Amino acid sequence: MIETKAKIDKIEFSGFEFYLLRDDLLGEFNGNKARKLAYLLQADLSKFNKIVSFGSSQSNAMYSISVFAKLKGLEFEYVMSHLSSNLATNPVGNFKFALENGMKIFVEENRREFALSLCDEKTLFIEEGVAQPQAEFGFIKQARDIEEFARQNLLKFDIFLPSGTGTSAAYLAKHTKFDVFTTPCVGDETFLKEQIQNLDPLSKVKILPPSKKYHFGDLKLELFKIWHELKEQSGVEFDLIYDPVGFLTLLKNFDKFKNPLLYIHQGGLIGNISQLQRYKYKFKDEIV
Ligand SMILES: *Cc1c(COP(=O)(O)O)cnc(C)c1O
Repeated sequence: MIETKAKIDKIEFSGFEFYLLRDDLLGEFNGNKARKLAYLLQADLSKFNKIVSFGSSQSNAMYSISVFAKLKGLEFEYVMSHLSSNLATNPVGNFKFALENGMKIFVEENRREFALSLCDEKTLFIEEGVAQPQAEFGFIKQARDIEEFARQNLLKFDIFLPSGTGTSAAYLAKHTKFDVFTTPCVGDETFLKEQIQNLDPLSKVKILPPSKKYHFGDLKLELFKIWHELKEQSGVEFDLIYDPVGFLTLLKNFDKFKNPLLYIHQGGLIGNISQLQRYKYKFKDEIV
């Protein structure tokens, strides 16, 4: 599935043109979580019988690991700190599909600690957001795909992708000759810089300040609007959490790029189902 060559489209939005790496089209298992799990996908996991991980109740990583576990015939146990009664009674989005893939959940305040307590020698433990060294492997292939496209089309790129843990930006930047720019969607620039340096002490990733400070998963009308506008103008559906922050940042920083821009679509569309529901509930009259 990840062996298929990534597709790159040309898109126009708000009067500027950019290229788009369609990692959202890699398969059922897609986006940057597929890149992060590519190493484990081809690894011999026969000594394991289950996967344990932890994070939020609507995480894209959680869903992707559930697909991965099912594919590998492994049990999947996942620890979250909170589960709203609403989501528990009406599962939706990533949570719903992860449950359908056989995920077993635990709700515990100290989620990482509790997750570790579920592990034995036959357990494959995966960090929140798959932010760990094994994730690097998949980005070598991503960098190669991008550079091959650039060579064939006589292009040089500046690359942009919005960050959570910074794992995708750090490992892509490590393996491509092009400049990689990102912006934090979780925490601030200092926090993101630290996270990236933990993964690659010499990282060349350039961090752009977000147009405004947002909390992760914030429901803001301007975020919804740019997401909607993008879909109308480009015909492509983007993620509703990271990408709106990414595009607002891009629009403010267009002068920073010296080369044609390549934006990385990192998937996450299943997560849109629940985020869209939250938007419609909060802004009943403003959005249709
Ligand atoms: C997980 C995810 C991110 C964040 O990736 P990091 O490697 O943690 O920075 C960004 N966009 C989407 C759509 C994601 O699912």
